[in-house]
Amino acid sequence: MNKQKKTALTKPESVLKYDFINASELKSIKVKRKRQPSSKTLIKDILKGDITALSRAITLIESKNPAHSKKANTIINGCLPFANNSIRIGITGVPGVGKSTFIESFGSYLTSLGKKIAILAVDPSSSLTKGSILGDKTRMEDLVKNKNAFIRPSASGNSLGGVARKTRETIILCEAAGFETIIIETVGVGQSETTVHSMVDFFLLMKLAGAGDELQGIKRGIIEMADAIVINKADGDNIKKAKIARTEFKRALHLYPTRASDWEPKVTLCSALHNEGVSEVWRLINAYTSHVKDNGYFDNQRRSQNKFWLIQTIKDKLQSNFFDNTNINKELMLQIDLIEKQKTTPFAAAEYLLSL
Ligand code: GDP
Repeated sequence: MNKQKKTALTKPESVLKYDFINASELKSIKVKRKRQPSSKTLIKDILKGDITALSRAITLIESKNPAHSKKANTIINGCLPFANNSIRIGITGVPGVGKSTFIESFGSYLTSLGKKIAILAVDPSSSLTKGSILGDKTRMEDLVKNKNAFIRPSASGNSLGGVARKTRETIILCEAAGFETIIIETVGVGQSETTVHSMVDFFLLMKLAGAGDELQGIKRGIIEMADAIVINKADGDNIKKAKIARTEFKRALHLYPTRASDWEPKVTLCSALHNEGVSEVWRLINAYTSHVKDNGYFDNQRRSQNKFWLIQTIKDKLQSNFFDNTNINKELMLQIDLIEKQKTTPFAAAEYLLSL
């Protein structure tokens, strides 16, 4: 029996695929595979703008393994002093409104100005739909090849809080890696718009021109959150309708009270497909940024967002510590059974479970 064959036979099943190499090669491969960069190395590389390190650290953030979470926290803390120096833009709109097309066009425009942009998503349904947004990177085919653009699909998970926390932590790493424009895309599933609004500086609502009943079917809160409404697909036969929609939205926005930011939300037309109106959106965002930086709202908002996320993270962690506990789960089933048999009340059962 030759040396190679011997190696294969004395190794467990999992390494049999290496039976074409000799023992010393096998050892070196195993050592290489085991060696993950340390937190210190990852921080150093992220700060240099290394995309591989950035992606690795985000994977740690997204992991459910407690050791990974611990490492992720060390990396986030190391990056935190270098974060914050960015503009964070939230983009929402129904599927098909043109978000991906807009981000492709807007992102390419920004990189042509020499900016580095990161595109993230908050999609709590992604574990069901396998990432309905940003999942298919081919929808941004130019941007995906652009070295100054970083695209990361939504973390998966069935709780919006969990998905959002991971995105929020990812923002910190992206900023530390030198991405000064962060775009966060979301679809209007449940509370996802409110959640994204609570992590961005500027919130953009994308709309299509309808049949003159523009405000029908829009959740009231969304209009109140929008710093700009961009009416997309304002091209071809649609231009006239889009202009009418713009007038109607402008009129509607006047009915809302003045905002804490003292910014008057704008309505603008765009054709993402033909790259029209895209630079106008950037001009608007810049006007907004200098307005709110001057009046102090920018910093105030970030501070209150931080406080909000502190409470949110605590709630999230308490909840997952509780529901992910095997013993609690077993006891929960027993208590549910007792409730069904009317042998306890929900309140007594809750008290008992919490006492565990
Ligand atoms: P998303 O689901 O919001 O990300 O929408 P997509 O970006 O995938 O766009 C949905 C469809 O609308 C695609 O077929 C796009 O080519 C088309 N579309 C996007 N923007 C425009 C636009 O400005 N004008 C026109 N005519 N079509 C557009």
